Amino acid sequence: MNFKSLPQLLDYFKDENTCIEYYEQIRWNGTPVCPHCGSERTYKTNRGHKCANSECYKKFTVKVGTIFHGSKISLRIWFAAIFLATTHKKGISSVQLALDLGITQKTAWFVLHRIREMLKDKAPQVLGKDKMVEVDEAYIGGREKNKHINKRRSLEDKNFTNEGKPYTPKKTVVGIIERNGNVVLKHVPNSELRNMGAFIARHVPQGSTIYSDEAPVYNHLKKYYTHESVKHALNIYVDGQVHTNTIENFWSVLKRGLYGIYHQVSEKHLERYLDEFAARFNTRSLSSQERFEKFLVDSESTLSYKKLISTVY
Ligand SMILES: [Zn+2]
Repeated sequence: MNFKSLPQLLDYFKDENTCIEYYEQIRWNGTPVCPHCGSERTYKTNRGHKCANSECYKKFTVKVGTIFHGSKISLRIWFAAIFLATTHKKGISSVQLALDLGITQKTAWFVLHRIREMLKDKAPQVLGKDKMVEVDEAYIGGREKNKHINKRRSLEDKNFTNEGKPYTPKKTVVGIIERNGNVVLKHVPNSELRNMGAFIARHVPQGSTIYSDEAPVYNHLKKYYTHESVKHALNIYVDGQVHTNTIENFWSVLKRGLYGIYHQVSEKHLERYLDEFAARFNTRSLSSQERFEKFLVDSESTLSYKKLISTVY
């Protein structure tokens, strides 16, 4: 097996049984595990597996407890969707995915959100070991013309301008990126120290070298890191090693994707889109197939439709 394109992938995964056998191998490595009780004593049935533990004795398939659980579309179409979503640099819209795969847009939307759940970084990454790190913040969405809103507005009218017009506040994203390495992203309520500092401390070990712009929120970094800032205000963007070009380039891919492909991203789902962009970026040196397999290993995650559409904010 060696697929570099969608037709090659679909040739290899020619029917549902091939997909199931492949996924069983990835998920269980030859020994099925009951998703209900964890027992390894199971036996095969016509349509899947059955637990041999007398206190459980439940039927299951390899899809139970994964992002594919309870879905009506075939694994073959899921695999094609994962391939498309992880190979398009700026992402793929649910409208486009629906057209490409012959499914409804609603299904495509749900599939893409479940794939994002799978792309989420499960273990927090440590950045900056033997690498230089850049940190920066980006502001996503919001309307430029409504920028000057009353800062003392009350909680009740926070979504309205002084003139009473609806206002979409910009969403703050903080990013840390290694030169020639990985990126981590987080949506934070604002760029205050308590939000940014904790995030940096979680991902970058003390003693590392960090580059940023001259925003005051980064002043504290000197206490724990070798920290240098670019003087953007003086129109200095590169001073030897001191620059933030790596993260700026990443922001431009992120923004072109969020605005160009996804148009509007709600606050509720922003974190998932960030997971998607980070996952694609961090696997950019892998082949399409290696990337596909890496993500399938992380597919043990469920996101119900109810949870997805529930209002958090
Ligand atoms: Zn069981």
